[in-house]
Amino acid sequence: MTEAEWGQIRAALEQTVGKNNHLTWIEPLSFLGFDDGVIEFQVKTTFMGDWVSRNFGDEIKRESLKQGVQVDRIVFKVGGAKTAVAKPEKVAEPLRTVSAKADVDLPGAPLDKRFTFDRFVVGKPNELAHAASRRVAEGGAVTFNPLFLYGGVGLGKTHLMHAIAWELQERSPKLRVVYLSAEQFMYRFIQALRDKQMMDFKELFRSVDVLMVDDVQFIAGKDSTQDEFFHTFNALVDQGKQVIISADRAPGEIDGLEDRIKSRLQWGLVVDLHPTDYELRLGILQQKVENYKSQYQELQISDGVLEFLAHRISNNVRVLEGALTRLFAFASLVGREITLDMAQESLADILRQSDRKVTMDEIMRKTCDYYNVRMSDMMSPKRSRNIARPRQMAMWLAKHLTQRSYPEIGKRFGGRDHTTVIHAVRKIEELKAQDSQVAEDAELLRRMLEA
Ligand code: ADP
Ligand code: MG
Repeated sequence: MTEAEWGQIRAALEQTVGKNNHLTWIEPLSFLGFDDGVIEFQVKTTFMGDWVSRNFGDEIKRESLKQGVQVDRIVFKVGGAKTAVAKPEKVAEPLRTVSAKADVDLPGAPLDKRFTFDRFVVGKPNELAHAASRRVAEGGAVTFNPLFLYGGVGLGKTHLMHAIAWELQERSPKLRVVYLSAEQFMYRFIQALRDKQMMDFKELFRSVDVLMVDDVQFIAGKDSTQDEFFHTFNALVDQGKQVIISADRAPGEIDGLEDRIKSRLQWGLVVDLHPTDYELRLGILQQKVENYKSQYQELQISDGVLEFLAHRISNNVRVLEGALTRLFAFASLVGREITLDMAQESLADILRQSDRKVTMDEIMRKTCDYYNVRMSDMMSPKRSRNIARPRQMAMWLAKHLTQRSYPEIGKRFGGRDHTTVIHAVRKIEELKAQDSQVAEDAELLRRMLEA
């Protein structure tokens, strides 16, 4: 691998690790060289090397492989000092399948060691998907086939699939469990075509006990790959072998997927992962902090920081993790307690990005719906209580959920004065403290708007 090739791999990594992680961890790596499967980087601190190795080692290897370079080990040189070898502890062990032919093996991708059930935080939005995954991971008689997990980016689909694979392997080590992405499936399929090894390919995939294909939406529109996937799928299901599939949306909604495949995918159990809610995000953050503490000990986080992050950062758990990772790094570099100020400052870009852009319009519409009043009344000079109260609530929401100033808000509500808005916001605060109904209305509306 040359420096230029590393440059390409580095660029490609932005997709997998996300922009923020990329900026904080990948870009600062300075490439020293590559020899005999060992890639060497210079980093500023041991912590940095350790962190990259633990958290992104797999991604670096995977991305390198995609670009045709097999990286076995990643080594970090700290500052100008002598080479510090990153923990040889393998981040993941590839699952190798025993195939009919001993010389053909490994259709599977490596599993992430962190993606286990005990590290998966369960909340309302993912409890069904979790329960179904647990059930499948118990092995035994196949009850749902396939298990189809779907949901938006970063909600835990891959985590659950890996967790199933780990658990199955642990319960029955002989079981041939293969996990791979639909992209890898395609890649292998094309390779087999090219090398005229389709028989081996078919035999191999039909000989597994459990097949997991991640991000199946990827093969939509890729006709011959779809076809092959369909045949493999049918062969396995017919033999009573467990198949687990994930996608970013429901089977019926994947454009470019053949109808027969869509319908076949719905034969088993289809469960979705909903966007995270505040409680789940907080739970995940707490768990990550615990894990971090058990590895690196010293870490002080002021009260309210995690709550703040859970409140302000979007649904995507990956983004949430990225934020936390950055905070840990800052804390370790400056050796201070993580305060709210520090969090706000060091995460300004992430916070800005994931600011849910609730618009004034949405606030007004949802509030009108909620209280069953007309938009025109909301804007009118009318001051009767049944209209004034919803209007005050909408102003309060606007103040809390948008960046609009008092005068701007006043203007949107039929050209009212900013003092009216200030009064409204105070009024709602007061009422919230006294009247549980108002408190509940405010909370419900806020959640609806932020969802
Ligand atoms: P997806 O495959 O749905 O895009 P992933 O499974 O890759 O999402 O999850 C993204 C990141 O968020 C992973 O690091 C994963 O461990 C973490 N994550 C997602 N959901 C949870 C959860 N419920 N508990 C703990 N970590 C989670
Ligand atoms: Mg995934």
